[in-house]
Amino acid sequence: MNDLLPQDSAHWEWLESRVRALMQAYAYRQIRTPIVEPTALFVRGLGEVTDIVEKEMYAFEDRLNGEQLTLRPEATAGVVRAVVEHNLLYDGGKRLYYMGPMFRHERPQRGRYRQFHQMGAEALGFAGPEVDAELILMAHRLWHSLGLRDVRLEINSLGQADERAAHRQALIAHLEAHADLLDEDARRRLHSNPLRILDTKNPAMQACVEAAPRLLDFLGEASRAHFQTVLSILEANGVAYRINPRLVRGMDYYNLTVFEFVTERLGSQGTICGGGRYDDLIVQIGGKPAPAVGWALGVERVMELLKEEGVLPAAPVPDAYAIVPDSSALSTVFRVLETLRGQGVRVQMHASVAEGMGSMKSQFKKADQSGARFALIFGGDELARGEVTVKALRDGAGAQETLPLEQASAWAKRLQSND
Ligand code: ATP
Ligand code: MG
Repeated sequence: MNDLLPQDSAHWEWLESRVRALMQAYAYRQIRTPIVEPTALFVRGLGEVTDIVEKEMYAFEDRLNGEQLTLRPEATAGVVRAVVEHNLLYDGGKRLYYMGPMFRHERPQRGRYRQFHQMGAEALGFAGPEVDAELILMAHRLWHSLGLRDVRLEINSLGQADERAAHRQALIAHLEAHADLLDEDARRRLHSNPLRILDTKNPAMQACVEAAPRLLDFLGEASRAHFQTVLSILEANGVAYRINPRLVRGMDYYNLTVFEFVTERLGSQGTICGGGRYDDLIVQIGGKPAPAVGWALGVERVMELLKEEGVLPAAPVPDAYAIVPDSSALSTVFRVLETLRGQGVRVQMHASVAEGMGSMKSQFKKADQSGARFALIFGGDELARGEVTVKALRDGAGAQETLPLEQASAWAKRLQSND
C-alpha cells in the first residue's frame, strides 16, 4: 500500500480530470459506494473458486457485532448492490462510473499492489451489443486523449451458461489428459471451475492452456451474432482488436463479451484495463434480472505506462509568487492576493522557515523554484506609492512593470486572456 506524494498526485489529478471529461462525453454519471461490504457479496458475486475470493480478500470480522466484512477487491459487486438496493433501474438503464481504492492481498511487485486504484464504467439495464461497443470505444478514446499509443485490445466471447457447460466437458477432458502439467491450483479447480484455469498466470501451464478447446467454438447463433455486432462497430470506428480465445477474466460473473487492453511495456503486469458483460450478476446479488456491462482500469498501471511513454504533463505551477520583504506590509499584501485569487490567479505567498520574511535573495530563489511565471514584488518603496512590481520569471524573464495596487484585478484579467 503506497503513499501518494504531491509530485505524483498532480498526475493522478490530471488523469482523473481526463476520465471525468470522458465520462461526461458519454453521459456516464458518478456513483460512490462504501469501501467495506459484507464478505458474502463478493463470495456470491465474484465466485467462490476465483483467485480473489480464495486468496486475495481482506476479510475480517467486525468485532463489535460479528459481521463478516471485506475491503472491496473490486467495485462492480458494490455498484450492483447499490443499484439493487436503491432500485436505480426502475425507470430504465443507467450509465455509471466510479474511481477509488481497491484491496487485494497479492504478492506486491511492479504494477501489483495491495491497495490499488481503479476507475471504471458500468452500463446497467442494457442488453444490446452496442453498449459493449460503446464502452470499448470509451476506453479506446481515453488512451488517445492521454497520448498513449502502445495499447492493444484483446477480445473474446464467453457465451452463455449452457454454452459454457458444453465447453466445460471438453475442457475437463483436455485438462485431465494433461494432468501431469497442471499445477496445484489447476488440479483443485479441475472440477469446480475449470474455466478459471485458462486465466492462470503460471508460465509452465501456458502451452497446455493454449491447446485447450476454445469456448468460441461452442457458441450458439445468438451469442455469435452479439459478438459479431460488437466487432463490426469496432471495425467501423477504426478500433483494432485481436480475438483471444483464451481470454476469460478473473471473475465468474462474466458472459458474452469480455475484453482487455494490454501493453507490452509494463512487463508481466501488462493489462491496464479489463471488462465485459455480466448479465447474471444482478440476479445473483438479489435484484430483478437486468443485463449489464462494464470495465475497470488500473490507475497505477496506466500511470506507469504514461511514464514509460513519456506523455505525463508537467506538474502544475502557480501563476505568481508574492515576494514580501517586510512583514508589516502583510495586511496590504493579503488584500491584493485575495483579490487575485478571487479572479482565478494561482498565487503562492512567500513564507519563511524562521520568524520574519527572510532576505530578498532567498525569496527570489523560492519564487524561481516555485515555477511561477511572475514574481509580485511588494517592496517598501512600491507599497509607499501604493504599487506592486510584476516581474516575469519565465517567458521574457526579467521584464517588469509597476502597477497601482487597485489595478491588480485588471492585471489578473490580462493574465487570464493571454492564457
Ligand atoms: P491481473 O490479471 O493482472 O491480476 P485482474 O484480472 O485481476 O488483473 P481486474 O480485476 O480485471 O484485474 O482489474 C482491472 C484492472 O485493475 C486490471 O487490468 C489492472 O490494471 C488493475 N489491477 C488489478 N489488480 C491489481 C493490483 N493488485 N495492483 C494494481 N493494479 C491492479
Ligand atoms: Mg488479479
